[in-house]
Amino acid sequence: MKKIERRAIMCLLLAGALVIGLGIFCYKYITDGSDWAVFTANKQIYNNKGQLCVGTVRDANKKVLLANRKTKMKFSKDSEIRKALVHTTGDKSGNITTGVNRVFASKMSGYNILTGTYSMEGKGRTINLTVDSSICVAANEALDGRSGTVGVYNYQTGDIICLVSSPNFDPKNPPDYDSAPSGAYINHFFSSVFTPGSIFKLVTAAASIETKSDYASWEYTCTGSDDYGSTDRVTCQEAHGTVNLRQALADSCNCYFGRLSQQLGPDLLEQYTKKAGLTRSLDINGVATKAGRFEFPKSGINLAWTGIGQYMDLVNPCSMMVYMGAIANGGKAVYPKILDKVTFSSGIPASFPGKQKTEQMIEEHTASVLKKMMRNNVEDHYGKENFPDLAICAKSGTAEVGKDKRPNAWFVGFLNDDAHPYAFIVLIEQGGFGSQVAGSVANKVLQEVVDKY
Ligand SMILES: [Zn+2]
Repeated sequence: MKKIERRAIMCLLLAGALVIGLGIFCYKYITDGSDWAVFTANKQIYNNKGQLCVGTVRDANKKVLLANRKTKMKFSKDSEIRKALVHTTGDKSGNITTGVNRVFASKMSGYNILTGTYSMEGKGRTINLTVDSSICVAANEALDGRSGTVGVYNYQTGDIICLVSSPNFDPKNPPDYDSAPSGAYINHFFSSVFTPGSIFKLVTAAASIETKSDYASWEYTCTGSDDYGSTDRVTCQEAHGTVNLRQALADSCNCYFGRLSQQLGPDLLEQYTKKAGLTRSLDINGVATKAGRFEFPKSGINLAWTGIGQYMDLVNPCSMMVYMGAIANGGKAVYPKILDKVTFSSGIPASFPGKQKTEQMIEEHTASVLKKMMRNNVEDHYGKENFPDLAICAKSGTAEVGKDKRPNAWFVGFLNDDAHPYAFIVLIEQGGFGSQVAGSVANKVLQEVVDKY
């Protein structure tokens, strides 16, 4: 009897282990099944070079950017399109981590949980992106070989219509990975962080508008330099005289923003940097952006430089562009997306990504005050004539990046125009003076956008 009892217990234990094992397998199958299916050893969807051999990628105007076929990855016939969009399509060896073949492999293969990749419709599925290849080519031409990035997105729908990172290359004739120009295989828009310089003054200004009852009238007299102790000094390009917040933002007065940062203190600056979304990573249809990094010293010169956008400040271009969208859109933008929809090879939609709004990044009133100030920057300083017929609101930045190096040039902002609700960011690494160098790139790209949309 005892023998039967022991055997029965053993059987029960085995049955229990089977149920638990099956449960774990089902859970892993549901959560990780798409990763298993696109594992590079799957000969059904990868060719003998290890390249995805199914799926087609089109831009916003249905222009084919990439077609994955059995023998090779077929890129656009136009070399300018290939270069301008290489950080979106990716390269043949898969070194660009933001390339569609890495990010959307399971979507292109047509993977689903019931039939895996078995039911693939011949050539796989079509990925329709939001980017417009002709706008990207215009942006790449405006960058003219200089390192940097240009991004433009619709802050009401979330569609990224322009995304260019430079240096770039022709994916048909890729440079050797080790001897490629520095940064050629990195998508600066999603995957890099940079010293923001004066574009960060918008965050310091937002903290002031929301927490200082005298934010509009508080003034500081700039003599061109401001001493913090016997050796430390904040300097401006010139003496700006007595300025309030609006004038200080237009003049980009470091001395004013240094003293304002002392009044606000590190905790408020940190709170508003986080609220602006600059310290976290965004998920752009599966691409994780690099999170910005900051330190907030308790007081003194380092706190001053932090509020000016220097010291240890580092921002990601895509996150900063979303903050521009929030200012344009009453304090809340729509998160950017690059994927419009996925279709079967027959053209029937297989899925649509939804749109998701950000949390309130700044109060509606603050957004409206900043919007007016950013328009004043253009009228008072950058010159309306440099942006013909554009309802542009902007802030320039000239970020110091070390001795013997030219500063990084930034120009960020948005169109205050319901027919063209676009936010933008332009960065030219070691480009020189922000509003002139990066501002002219922004104008060229936005003129194309307004002409076309
Ligand atoms: Zn000044």
